[in-house]
Amino acid sequence: MILIQGQAATCPHCWEPITLSLDLSVSGQSYIEDCPVCCKPLIVSYSAANGEITGFSVEASD
Ligand SMILES: [Zn+2]
Repeated sequence: MILIQGQAATCPHCWEPITLSLDLSVSGQSYIEDCPVCCKPLIVSYSAANGEITGFSVEASD
Protein backbone atom coordinates (compact mmCIF):
# COMPACT_ATOMS: atom_id res chain seq x y z
CA MET A 1 0.00 0.00 0.00
CA ILE A 2 1.29 3.41 -0.86
CA LEU A 3 -0.12 6.20 1.25
CA ILE A 4 1.43 9.59 0.70
CA GLN A 5 0.36 12.47 2.88
CA GLY A 6 1.41 16.08 2.70
CA GLN A 7 2.70 17.36 6.01
CA ALA A 8 3.08 21.06 6.74
CA ALA A 9 6.38 22.05 8.32
CA THR A 10 8.62 25.02 8.82
CA CYS A 11 12.12 25.00 7.41
CA PRO A 12 14.69 25.35 10.25
CA HIS A 13 17.01 27.24 7.91
CA CYS A 14 14.83 29.87 6.25
CA TRP A 15 11.65 29.58 8.39
CA GLU A 16 9.46 29.39 5.34
CA PRO A 17 6.42 27.11 5.47
CA ILE A 18 6.99 23.99 3.41
CA THR A 19 5.06 20.84 2.66
CA LEU A 20 6.73 17.46 2.85
CA SER A 21 5.35 14.27 1.35
CA LEU A 22 5.44 11.43 3.85
CA ASP A 23 4.93 7.79 2.95
CA LEU A 24 2.65 6.48 5.70
CA SER A 25 2.76 2.92 4.43
CA VAL A 26 5.97 2.50 6.42
CA SER A 27 6.12 2.65 10.21
CA GLY A 28 8.55 5.52 10.15
CA GLN A 29 11.82 6.67 8.75
CA SER A 30 14.44 9.39 8.85
CA TYR A 31 15.98 10.87 5.75
CA ILE A 32 17.56 14.00 4.35
CA GLU A 33 15.63 16.17 1.96
CA ASP A 34 16.52 19.57 0.57
CA CYS A 35 14.25 22.48 1.46
CA PRO A 36 12.23 23.45 -1.63
CA VAL A 37 12.69 27.14 -0.75
CA CYS A 38 16.32 27.56 0.28
CA CYS A 39 17.70 24.18 -0.92
CA LYS A 40 19.49 23.50 2.36
CA PRO A 41 19.38 19.94 3.70
CA LEU A 42 16.77 18.99 6.28
CA ILE A 43 16.61 15.89 8.44
CA VAL A 44 13.04 14.66 8.25
CA SER A 45 11.98 12.10 10.86
CA TYR A 46 8.55 10.63 11.36
CA SER A 47 6.68 7.66 12.64
CA ALA A 48 3.30 6.41 11.51
CA ALA A 49 0.73 3.88 12.59
CA ASN A 50 -2.41 2.79 10.74
CA GLY A 51 -1.86 5.43 8.10
CA GLU A 52 -1.63 8.29 10.57
CA ILE A 53 1.37 10.33 11.62
CA THR A 54 2.30 9.69 15.26
CA GLY A 55 5.52 11.62 15.33
CA PHE A 56 7.12 14.20 13.07
CA SER A 57 10.13 16.48 13.23
CA VAL A 58 12.29 18.50 10.87
CA GLU A 59 15.79 19.51 11.90
CA ALA A 60 18.66 21.33 10.28
CA SER A 61 21.27 18.82 9.21
CA ASP A 62 24.21 20.92 10.26
ZN1 LIG B 1 14.49 26.50 3.73
